[in-house]
Amino acid sequence: MDRKKPHIYEFHLHLYGCFTAQDLYEQGQLLGEFPRWEWFASEYEAAWGKFPTWYWDKKNGLEILTSEVTLTQPASFAQFQSAFNLSIALFPAVPEDQTPARIALERIRAQGVYYAELRMVIPFYFSHAQAQIFLRTLAGAFSSACTENFQPRLVISLPQGPPSALEQQYSWVREAMAQDSTVAAMLVALDFCGDEEPHPPLEKQDFFQRAHADNLKSGQPLRFYYHVGECFSKIGMQNAIRRIWQTHRLGVDRLSHASALAIPPASYLGHSIQETVQERLSHIEFLLESADWLRESGCVYSLDELRKEQETLGEKDPAEILARVISAHEVEQTHALQQAVVARLRAEEAVIESCPSSNWILSGISRLEDHPLPALLRSGLCVVMSSDDPGIFQTDYEKEEAFCREKLGMSEEELQRLRENGDFIFHVITNG
Ligand SMILES: [Zn+2]
Repeated sequence: MDRKKPHIYEFHLHLYGCFTAQDLYEQGQLLGEFPRWEWFASEYEAAWGKFPTWYWDKKNGLEILTSEVTLTQPASFAQFQSAFNLSIALFPAVPEDQTPARIALERIRAQGVYYAELRMVIPFYFSHAQAQIFLRTLAGAFSSACTENFQPRLVISLPQGPPSALEQQYSWVREAMAQDSTVAAMLVALDFCGDEEPHPPLEKQDFFQRAHADNLKSGQPLRFYYHVGECFSKIGMQNAIRRIWQTHRLGVDRLSHASALAIPPASYLGHSIQETVQERLSHIEFLLESADWLRESGCVYSLDELRKEQETLGEKDPAEILARVISAHEVEQTHALQQAVVARLRAEEAVIESCPSSNWILSGISRLEDHPLPALLRSGLCVVMSSDDPGIFQTDYEKEEAFCREKLGMSEEELQRLRENGDFIFHVITNG
């Protein structure tokens, strides 16, 4: 093994986000027409206010595709999702087809990555039998791609809801692992991703309890990752910070993004947020329960006022939307909450996956100096860096480092620390 060149780890990738614009263009050429174009085009129109171009009869079709479905500037989560949809439309998952996984794995291998974890969903319309074949097919593609210099692993992103779908897919994953040694070797973790705002993490308390118990008794432990505090334009930063803490307490191994821990709250001054009565009640409950440790960290608020608010809200419909504009006072309170939660997470050795380009594009910030990564790292948290959807964001690990150096003003020592954290996490993964 060549020790002069340090290993590159990509702990946070989405398999369908690894296709390049070129891959998408070529796949469209190969297919000619494809049935999901209509779906992609209508979702795209809803998010961007314009229809996408039909790229394959244009002389500069690849260029237009690149400009329409890869992202380099701030965008909303809906816009991102609608761009991502082109991959789903062009590469519909077929249970026994290894092609999408092979293409994605080849792109990551060619970037010089040593260890990569790629997240993939099981299509919601798959039957039990199709899901079993699909998991074996994926694991087979991962296993065949393994070499001395490239170690890819599979992560399944479970549905955020409804609970019955989550339970069903979870049991399918466990079954596939128990029955197939390649699945057991390649599938290393479960993840939650997608639109986080409608899904408070505490909804999954029972699920996590069971999954941790299964880990103890099955002899095939799975790790847990969770996208949280990444996009929170509706619920606002306070709720996002609380949710990060609650997700950590569910016993996850890594918090994906957790940008709300480090973006300066002042960057959202004057923004309007919309939270449900239920969300606000959860937050009040958290503030009341956590009053002691929050106060010790300088987070001060009136318990009497919170109890009064709790009483008033208790009479309302939990689904009712409460709208407010973020005031200077809320900015101050949010800052204190951020500091308190960061201190606890640091003490409890939480691990954060930060994805620089992705966070710049999707966090709702408009100034590079508000980017969460430098502050996350400088706060002493264990942060690893990854590229999330390198195809969509036109990036890879080394380009992410260049972004950190050139756009975020991070030092070589800081980039080195991110790599060392990667080494450390890889060591934890391989040695338990
Ligand atoms: Zn992600």
